[in-house]
Amino acid sequence: MKISNRELSYLLIIKEANDKGCGATIFGVAKSLGVSTASAYEEINHLMRKGLVERRSDGIYVTEKGIREMNSLIRAHRIIETLLVRAGIDPDRACELAKMFDEALPEEVVEKLYEYLGKPDKCPHNKEIPSTQ
Ligand SMILES: [Zn+2]
Repeated sequence: MKISNRELSYLLIIKEANDKGCGATIFGVAKSLGVSTASAYEEINHLMRKGLVERRSDGIYVTEKGIREMNSLIRAHRIIETLLVRAGIDPDRACELAKMFDEALPEEVVEKLYEYLGKPDKCPHNKEIPSTQ
């Protein structure tokens, strides 16, 4: 079961703090996403129960499982985008459309599309298509 785009937006913000060498705070996440502290608190607890993030002494960190799940959704998104652009759809529109079903497509279908497209390594926005390994 893939994560949702909403879960991904939280994980991206938390990962950004982690990449700078610190844990994320609920307040910081709420501020970055423009949501209330209460909803950030609730969503982070939900991510914690799913094992996607963990609390350490200096804040919240994305777990290895969380990173794998992020890569899996980003991968699906960029593969679908590539397909849509090759079919003649404008890249920005393709990005919007891909969000409508990237979280819903089963992984084996994503992998079939990837093969079908000739295993591209970049998306139409020239961003790397992450592997899930
Ligand atoms: Zn996109």
